Amino acid sequence: MHYNLLLEEMRRSANVGVDVATCGCVLRMTHGLPCAREIVQYRPQHQSIPLLAIHLIWQKLNDLPQQLSQCTHDPEQEISFFRQKFDEA
Ligand SMILES: [Zn+2]
Repeated sequence: MHYNLLLEEMRRSANVGVDVATCGCVLRMTHGLPCAREIVQYRPQHQSIPLLAIHLIWQKLNDLPQQLSQCTHDPEQEISFFRQKFDEA
């Protein structure tokens, strides 16, 4: 999953520094995830990677069933949908 990709990129960041050419920014371009060069910039402040740096697609529930996105945004319907999925699980 993307955690492994990020971990690999964090390992890579130790050798990459802030140079774009060295980094290549593949992870940023292909997955919308922070690449080694970006991760290096968070390190000095002991900052965690901001959620904004993660592409929107990873912030969404990527296995959200199609049925939900097609429903009419009726709160009752959404609640009963989740209740049904919860009961099934
Ligand atoms: Zn990069």
